[in-house]
Amino acid sequence: MEIKVQITDYLVVGSGIAGLSLAFKLSMLGEVMLLTKKEHSDCNTNYAQGGIASVFSNTDSFDSHYADTLKAGGGINRPEVVDLAVKLGPKLILELTNSGIQFSKKTDGQFDLGKEGGHSFNRIVHARDLTGQEIESGLINVILNKDRLKTQEGCCVIDLLIRDRRCVGVVYYNEMNCNLFACFAKAVILATGGIGQVYKYTTNPEIATGDGIAIASRAGASIASMEFVQFHPTALYPSIIEGKRAFLVSEAVRGEGGILKTADGEILKINHPLGSLAPRDIVARSIYFYLKENQKKYVLLDATSIDGEYLEKRFPQIYNKCLSYEIDIRKDPIPVVPAAHYICGGIDIDMNGRSSIPSLYAIGEVAHSGLHGANRLASNSLLEALVFAEQAYRHIESSRLKTPEVTGLKALFVNEDKNQLFDIQELKEELRETMWKKVGIVRNNKGLDEAETFIRKWTPVVGEAYDKTRFDLGLVELRNLFEVAKFIVMCSRMRQESRGLHFLEDHPERDDNYHGYMIIEDTTI
Ligand SMILES: Cc1cc2nc3c(=O)[nH]c(=O)nc-3n(C[C@H](O)[C@H](O)[C@H](O)COP(=O)(O)OP(=O)(O)OC[C@H]3O[C@@H](n4cnc5c(N)ncnc54)[C@H](O)[C@@H]3O)c2cc1C
Repeated sequence: MEIKVQITDYLVVGSGIAGLSLAFKLSMLGEVMLLTKKEHSDCNTNYAQGGIASVFSNTDSFDSHYADTLKAGGGINRPEVVDLAVKLGPKLILELTNSGIQFSKKTDGQFDLGKEGGHSFNRIVHARDLTGQEIESGLINVILNKDRLKTQEGCCVIDLLIRDRRCVGVVYYNEMNCNLFACFAKAVILATGGIGQVYKYTTNPEIATGDGIAIASRAGASIASMEFVQFHPTALYPSIIEGKRAFLVSEAVRGEGGILKTADGEILKINHPLGSLAPRDIVARSIYFYLKENQKKYVLLDATSIDGEYLEKRFPQIYNKCLSYEIDIRKDPIPVVPAAHYICGGIDIDMNGRSSIPSLYAIGEVAHSGLHGANRLASNSLLEALVFAEQAYRHIESSRLKTPEVTGLKALFVNEDKNQLFDIQELKEELRETMWKKVGIVRNNKGLDEAETFIRKWTPVVGEAYDKTRFDLGLVELRNLFEVAKFIVMCSRMRQESRGLHFLEDHPERDDNYHGYMIIEDTTI
């Protein structure tokens, strides 16, 4: 297949909060190309409900947000990153409002700040329970008619172009015209989001196949902290049994007074002073052990003590979704279960969003900045995306990046023989099931070994099939999912202790020999 060549100044991959905010800023410096796999709004950002954590209340302080973030993070957050994020938060949120994004306000015109697990104060800026949609549509509006910014939907980035150890561009497939492109740029920024699809049950949409992590790792970038997968405690049970994306019931419902109860209506035992509002790792594990010991299918989130009219107004999306399952949240407790939600690890970056490969940046959920440590504090991820979009922008602005030469490309001859020995969808489901059962909320070494054996068996088979039928996008994603699964298992095997989101039955206590990050530098093993 012939490869078409393009050139731009800055190439951004992904149209969630991270990619859109950076693309907008970079268009002030030069020409920007933004590529995205499906439609613009097909991303995790669009589903965010709770909001963005930041200090706006007079009673709150940066010190408190900093301390809460570190506490949730099991003591291994990078302190300088936490400090930066909490301090930049208010400025960056005001930038969003200045570009027309509207967050919920009180009658006095101040933000209506919500509360979520692990936060000592009300500090969640939100747009009712539709925060992600408001941000996503607002940012898309801002970028669409921007001079020097070209966005392309239906373009899946497959690999990086590396020359002399520097990133000089990407190879991508345009589903609209079935062409393969090599796009060269001074800087490439991966903003490709999360990995939720590697697990059977997830709140993440279908795009979340860990592409950016796999793409960067194949080019030799350092990957870190992949054992820290966050399982959100409260996904709507009926959406899961229907086999759909797990619909989230925001933590903000508990912030407003919702209480977790057993399937029989007793208060759920959660070994933490904050009870239902304890950090997510603790709540998800309490639910896991309760369900296992009592052979139950779900627990209940009871919001019936909250004023019904208020509940309907504050959480319109959750109210309507539950009603579609004949659950009236004003009167009925909501059946919920945990589901894979967020990856704290990813492409290891510095304070400027730079990966270990020159001219390759990574921002948002795809990156490991060290903000979250071993467990992300609620509503700190939208914040992280804004902060590292800003940092990367500042760094690119002050760097003298050179346009690479367009050389070294040869035509790719693809064997279109599609007779691979497996069914892509079936194998994907098998991987998701394996990860859910063996590398889930509670892990043990035996299960990790079994998952590793499965992944090692299939990785070369999938790789070989990919080499033969390079532009089957299902296969592109499957190959990436196997890569990501491998890193989650590798990091989990390395961390022989329990900390934050990583709970290992063989070593249920924290062991300070493991203080620090699991970093995979040779990503080709
Ligand atoms: C249901 C839900 C609720 C949440 N609620 C909150 C909340 O209240 N507060 C909070 O802070 N966080 C929340 N989160 C987490 C937060 O939404 C995400 O971490 C954040 O939106 C990630 O933004 P991003 O820009 O990094 O990635 P995304 O928004 O996921 O965007 C990734 C983009 O990359 C594109 N892409 C992926 N692979 C490729 C490829 N190979 N080629 C081209 N394009 C590609 C995708 O199509 C997409 O456009 C929630 C997440 C979910 C799923």
